[in-house]
Amino acid sequence: MGGTPHDKGVAMNANELKELAIATDTELARLSGIKFDLRMAIMSFRETVSSRHIDENTKARYEAKIEKALVALDEVVSQMKPLNEIFALHNWNRAFLVQNNNGHVHSKMECSTCFDTTPFLWLPMYSASTETEIVEAAGEEACTVCYPSAPADVLNRPSTIVTADKIAKAEAKAERDAKKAEKIAKRPTADGSELIVAELWMVRQNKELKTERAAELWYSEAGENLTKEYHTNKWGIEGCAKVRNGMDRVVNALAEKRGVSVEIVLADLNKKMAKRIKNNTY
Ligand SMILES: [Zn+2]
Repeated sequence: MGGTPHDKGVAMNANELKELAIATDTELARLSGIKFDLRMAIMSFRETVSSRHIDENTKARYEAKIEKALVALDEVVSQMKPLNEIFALHNWNRAFLVQNNNGHVHSKMECSTCFDTTPFLWLPMYSASTETEIVEAAGEEACTVCYPSAPADVLNRPSTIVTADKIAKAEAKAERDAKKAEKIAKRPTADGSELIVAELWMVRQNKELKTERAAELWYSEAGENLTKEYHTNKWGIEGCAKVRNGMDRVVNALAEKRGVSVEIVLADLNKKMAKRIKNNTY
């Protein structure tokens, strides 16, 4: 294992270099995050100060904020200086991930495809890795300007670089998927499809019966409403037909979901409905 052409005779084996690179870049990453935030804050303060409508008091307050931020920026830059010098001495490979959708992995923040305002995530675990290792890990995320030698088959592979952001996104998606699966499993249908029936107080509208319990309650209420039809005649023939159709579908769906016969479900639902009608009779 020889040295890289860049290590300028500094006696250090590959493991020691890797260790130094990770430690240095981890600290630089922290500091450059602070530097980025300060620069963005200064830009926004300057915009406020140059606004036409600003009053003198506010202007003075923002100018003071800029002064303070500039001092902090100087401080951060001077903390970064010795670390930058260590890097300049060894010039190890680096990887930066742009933090937006479809963000790429770059070897330097000065890449021509990026901007001054591009938010970079340092990947110090890849500091002092070989370019091949980085490109292999980055796959389709590898920037072809930074890594022009990246082979086409590697660029077609998904990235294996794991970041906190990606983990959080994957966890959020898994949670959403689980909730969706739970919702589907609770539906009163065997295949998890939606069971849509008439909204009883407005039969032209539809509503979804999201659970078996909701389907049972709707069935009883629908049956009760159908008996009232003879007293008030406020429903049209069409509305009644729609409700009856819904009741049939509830029975069929529950029978299929529970794996029992339509007769069994019908007997059970009609018993519940009769009880409801009895209790609501004056
Ligand atoms: Zn690049």
